[in-house]
Amino acid sequence: MKQFSDMSAVLAARHRDGLLRQRVELQSAQSVTPIIDGKPLLSFCSNDYLGLAGDDRIAQAMSQAVERYGVGAGASHLIDGHHHEHERLEQELAEFCGREAALVFSTGYMANIGVIQALLTRHDTVIQDRLNHASLIDGGRLSGAKFSRYAHNDSDNLAQQLDRASGKKLVVTDGVFSMDGDKAPLDDLASVCRSHDAWLMVDDAHGFGVLGTEGAGLVSEFGLTTEDVPVVIGTLGKAFGTSGAFVAGDQLTIDYLLQYARSYIYTTASPPAVAAATRASLAIVRNSNDRRAHLTALIQKLRAGIQALGLTLMPSETPIQPILIGESHHAMQLSQALKARGILVTAIRPPTVPEGTARLRVTLSAQHSEAQVDTLLNTLESLL
Ligand SMILES: *Cc1c(COP(=O)(O)O)cnc(C)c1O
Repeated sequence: MKQFSDMSAVLAARHRDGLLRQRVELQSAQSVTPIIDGKPLLSFCSNDYLGLAGDDRIAQAMSQAVERYGVGAGASHLIDGHHHEHERLEQELAEFCGREAALVFSTGYMANIGVIQALLTRHDTVIQDRLNHASLIDGGRLSGAKFSRYAHNDSDNLAQQLDRASGKKLVVTDGVFSMDGDKAPLDDLASVCRSHDAWLMVDDAHGFGVLGTEGAGLVSEFGLTTEDVPVVIGTLGKAFGTSGAFVAGDQLTIDYLLQYARSYIYTTASPPAVAAATRASLAIVRNSNDRRAHLTALIQKLRAGIQALGLTLMPSETPIQPILIGESHHAMQLSQALKARGILVTAIRPPTVPEGTARLRVTLSAQHSEAQVDTLLNTLESLL
């Protein structure tokens, strides 16, 4: 195995640089107070923005569906794994997004690689925001299309790149950026795309459930139509609290993706009970204005408190509230010191974020109380 003998040196270097990634072990339901490695913690790091991952009503919908339909789908969607529950979920998601149709994938990662690869060939061009999620970047690479990135949220820079692009042009952006929490300027991006005859694809993994009327996401908050944003991606493992993802668009686009998205075709369908759980979750999400209002209040409280401590916040109005630290070891030390005091906040380091911008990524959930946000602020203050 001589060829692979550099693995231990590479891992040692990663450890030395404060970049080694380690998992914690959850022994309870996901919640703001999970049991981790045997101890109860106060957590500010899940993407369970509405507190639905452990919701009894959704769990019950899932177990009833398991009783009726069993556990596994048993086949891929195009063989005979496509269940009535998947079909109903697709219709409900399409209606939720104000689109003609939707297609449900097993994960967001798979949706992104499948959709971009299906829409483009090597004669085409994909242009992505520099800070896009890794799954979008990977999808762009896998598609074989010409690939470039524009400066973060910079529609002028995008326009310059579109001027030089050839073939079909697909512009791809996160809706809410996963490591920064800021929103893409979708109206500007859509108008640049329209004037260049390009398609805009928005991955709103962190906006669905949280932003817009009924939680219909950032595209809905901007009031953009299928013409403005032909391809909308949502994930179901974040605010929805279940698992999976979807793409929504006009019927023709969805029909096309059904034929050509390889990560949809060549994989076993997700369990029908997961689709049933997500349908229950969708109904709750739409009805959760009170949870969204509470979340907004928590965001304002946290931001005021962090600023009062003299720490650097990023320009975010969403439940993703990173505190910029800079150096990886320092971010790690703070994260470890918080954990020793019972609070879980992850340090996000390069290569996930650019060099020199390590951060404590605080995420808020509607399940948090104001008192729990105070606990975080007071503990941070004691560490400075
Ligand atoms: C989490 C995330 C994904 C991946 O979704 P999964 O269902 O977890 O695979 C894709 N895009 C963005 C922007 C994300 O934040």
